[in-house]
Amino acid sequence: MMISGMQLTARECAKVAATTSLAQATAVPAVQRVAGRWQCQRCGQRRFGPLADGRAYCVSCVGMSRVETGSQLWRFPHTPAPLGGPLTWRGTLTPAQARAAQAALASVAAGRDHLFWAVTGAGKTEMLFPLIAQCLGQHQRVAWVTPRIDVVLELAPRLQAAFIGTPVAIGYGGRPWPMRDAPLTVATTHQMLRYYRHFDLMIIDEVDAFPFSQTPMLAYACTQAARGVTVFLSATPPDALRRAARAGRIGSSMLSRRFHGQPLPVPVMRLMKLTRVPDQLPLVAARWLAAQHRAGRVSLLFVPDTRWVVPLSQAVQRLGLRASGVHARDPARLGKVQAFRQGQLDCLVTTTILERGVTIPHCAVLVLAADDRQFDRAALVQMAGRAGRASDSPDDPVWFVAAHFSLAIAQALTEIRGMNRRGWR
Ligand SMILES: [Zn+2]
Repeated sequence: MMISGMQLTARECAKVAATTSLAQATAVPAVQRVAGRWQCQRCGQRRFGPLADGRAYCVSCVGMSRVETGSQLWRFPHTPAPLGGPLTWRGTLTPAQARAAQAALASVAAGRDHLFWAVTGAGKTEMLFPLIAQCLGQHQRVAWVTPRIDVVLELAPRLQAAFIGTPVAIGYGGRPWPMRDAPLTVATTHQMLRYYRHFDLMIIDEVDAFPFSQTPMLAYACTQAARGVTVFLSATPPDALRRAARAGRIGSSMLSRRFHGQPLPVPVMRLMKLTRVPDQLPLVAARWLAAQHRAGRVSLLFVPDTRWVVPLSQAVQRLGLRASGVHARDPARLGKVQAFRQGQLDCLVTTTILERGVTIPHCAVLVLAADDRQFDRAALVQMAGRAGRASDSPDDPVWFVAAHFSLAIAQALTEIRGMNRRGWR
């Protein structure tokens, strides 16, 4: 097994010792003093915990394999990728998508990072295909990374189908590693901690998604793992990236229309008391869910609190709908999402784990307690963006149900309406 471009702790090296030789690798101190303070050289963070033997370990990246003071990181040299196959996707880009794809190619040719700002459902995956194909044809390595496992699982088969002759490595926590040596890697951002100056093109998808935005370690890991241009993808980019694009420090392309050309569904605000939630659904919300079912739609019911998932899915079941619920720590999560995709459920009650990366046709969206502090602008835009994805049902309804208006709700509505206006121009 070739482990080109990886950076590993001694413990991790021992796991792959049978298949590789440390002689190729360069050892660097895993922890260095920078400006008088320790800094972990794998994740860039400076928070350390004590060990019984007097040493200290990095608490930020300990979930991957412990980095201790006095230990070493082994960095394996980068090698060019095996040649990837051609693009086998036979679809065509819309003129707007093609323009966005061209802008990204131009940025990469100029060695400049690029922001793809595309509304939910714009078909941003396909827009990256020309760029990926170009890199794969030049023995380059491409990583498509995202903070979310769900997005990795949705994306990997689509990329594999678009590049049938190209080996694709898939990485996320709990999956055996090292990954296969492939020109194209789809992985969680966490997995980038194991690479050093390895990927010629780094595509960071859902760059604003938790935990990426709150975890500087992950941004550091992606920067360390890249050796070329980075492309950021988002429907709701963080302010820093918007500013960089506006100022011309990075290239950018904006897509304010969905691939089917229809505007984004604008959420309808419904103010009401939520005193009996989660034991009961508000009556109007229950009637609305039942009406969606009669209209041939499935529903996503978003809630701010994991503890609401079970009682509310039971409340939906009492309406006579086939309902289930998922949250981040639900071991049966992947199976339930699959059942929902396959039409075996009418309604799925979920926390924000399904706010993005999930594309289900004919899906209505109800956000309960939309004024909760859990839901920021980006989360509200993303949740609303689950509706209207199919071209034969672009106007699936979205409800924000809340006791009060919040700043985040106002920002989300402004952003959605603004994108729709821009899309007409
Ligand atoms: Zn660390």
